[in-house]
Amino acid sequence: MKINRNYDNLVQNYLFAEIAKRVREYQAANPDKDVIKLGIGDVTLPLPQIAVEAMKKGADDLSKKESFKGYPDYEGYDFVRQAVADYYKSFGVTVGADEVFISDGAKSDTGNFCDIFSEDNVVLVTDPVYPVYVDSNTMAGREIIYADCNKENGFAAMPDESVKADIIYLCSPNNPTGAALTYEQLKAWVDWANKNDAVILYDSAYEAFITDETLPRSIFAVEGARTCAVEFCSLSKTAGFTGTRCGYTVIPKELERDGHNILKFWYRRQATKFNGVSWPVQCAAAAVLSEEGQCQIKENISYYQENARIIAEAMDELGIYYTGGKNSPYIWLECPCGMGSWEFFDYLLENANVVGTPGEGFGKNGAGYFRLTSFGDRANTLEAVRRIKELLSK
Ligand code: PLP
Repeated sequence: MKINRNYDNLVQNYLFAEIAKRVREYQAANPDKDVIKLGIGDVTLPLPQIAVEAMKKGADDLSKKESFKGYPDYEGYDFVRQAVADYYKSFGVTVGADEVFISDGAKSDTGNFCDIFSEDNVVLVTDPVYPVYVDSNTMAGREIIYADCNKENGFAAMPDESVKADIIYLCSPNNPTGAALTYEQLKAWVDWANKNDAVILYDSAYEAFITDETLPRSIFAVEGARTCAVEFCSLSKTAGFTGTRCGYTVIPKELERDGHNILKFWYRRQATKFNGVSWPVQCAAAAVLSEEGQCQIKENISYYQENARIIAEAMDELGIYYTGGKNSPYIWLECPCGMGSWEFFDYLLENANVVGTPGEGFGKNGAGYFRLTSFGDRANTLEAVRRIKELLSK
């Protein structure tokens, strides 16, 4: 018996465990202090009412013989796939309902998608990076190379003609940097992928946070993307589905590599390893994707957007360089006075009782940077910002 030794190559990421430990120790030593957490990526607002009603109705269906549902289709129920296609149409992008796969979230699909690609492909990720792309490909033994995102390029790496890669992960608006790619930037990646026979795995989990109408909300808004890209999206952050679990993946029918159709390969993979998303959850997903659902979730998104605006405004007032805040729920800031990420973490915890996420947990280009999220509640966000401003303007 042999274990998968690629797991030995996973870099132990102690980021969130280390954050929790430092906060715990601080609170034990200072029980009277009110610590505000703006580090987590989880949402705080409850599910919209329309999702709850649809889920209840879905559960009720399961209680009756006439409307009971067993195993769902691997790729999702047709009406939910159609609801996703209609949602794309609402912002001017055409995708076929038969190109949509309903998933249990973007994490699983971004991590699993490379199952259909050979292990000797080279994977390119941007750094800083959402760790799932790196860890899942490390587990499969693939070579991973990095494109640097930094202050010089506004945390938006561009393709380098001298670099050879087969699979490229892009995430826009980005976690952790909040940077959102422009049409021209995304087009440069699309052209590069088409020219180099590569595939772009595009994570648009935060697309609903885009307010600037000139920015693409989908890679399929970009000419040429249908022959090189797969898109992953999620209802986690937009509709509060982090615990409910539902997302979707879009694969254009014409996407082929190595003489094979990607959509058919992914269907084959899902049919083998995935048994679909439950009926009540798919009903809830279709409900939030409906026109009325979109009105309801807009309230939640606006709430987080306003939190992001409040944090970004404070950074502007303090003269601190940052990306995100606009078109993104994340604010990625340069630690003041040349502090390191962990140094700033401790400084903020001890002097403002505010918790954020040290940037170096997301890759080497995160050193000296720090992530704040807008997913907290309003009163906490306002209080955290007041304390940060008081501390840093001294
Ligand atoms: N992709 C990115 C970039 C994320 O930041 C997250 C969650 O934090 C996910 C995917 C996971 O989404 P889901 O909850 O749909 O699995």
